[in-house]
Amino acid sequence: MALKPLMRGLQADLSLITARHWPGTREAIIETQPGNLKMYLESLVENCKHPPAADAVCRYADCLQVTMEIYFSDLDFEGFLRIGCIDACKLEYHPGCWKELRAEHRQQHSEKDFLGAGCLTPDCAGVISSVVMYGSDGAVRREYRDTTRQRSASPHCMRRSLKMQPR
Ligand SMILES: [Zn+2]
Ligand SMILES: [Zn+2]
Repeated sequence: MALKPLMRGLQADLSLITARHWPGTREAIIETQPGNLKMYLESLVENCKHPPAADAVCRYADCLQVTMEIYFSDLDFEGFLRIGCIDACKLEYHPGCWKELRAEHRQQHSEKDFLGAGCLTPDCAGVISSVVMYGSDGAVRREYRDTTRQRSASPHCMRRSLKMQPR
């Protein structure tokens, strides 16, 4: 955890520190200028305590990775897969976790076969309407969408609209 050395840095008497220069130049390193260093450390501490929302969160119950949060900026970012259902579920998986999950769904031979299958969220009555695979460069590698299915076709939407009818 990076928090400890950062806190130590904040407790030090930063006024004793003079600005450093980029080696071989007269250009000061902005972060080391008195005042800036404290601000910079504080923003890093803030980042440690309240990390920015992840770009994706792996939903595999037995996630194989150290953390379920996925950031495009991860050093070991290897892409991920995102599944969408007509009821607006968004399910994301590490590539390795997805491989495990796929092994449990033998009837679907490729990602495309998941379109129209039951949503992977346990209590969702919707069906899968999109599968998007992101590569390690963050770009979309493959994308399958079923635009023929409308959200209103789902049972729990129908229930909701029945309730809206005047008596
Ligand atoms: Zn995972
Ligand atoms: Zn769903």
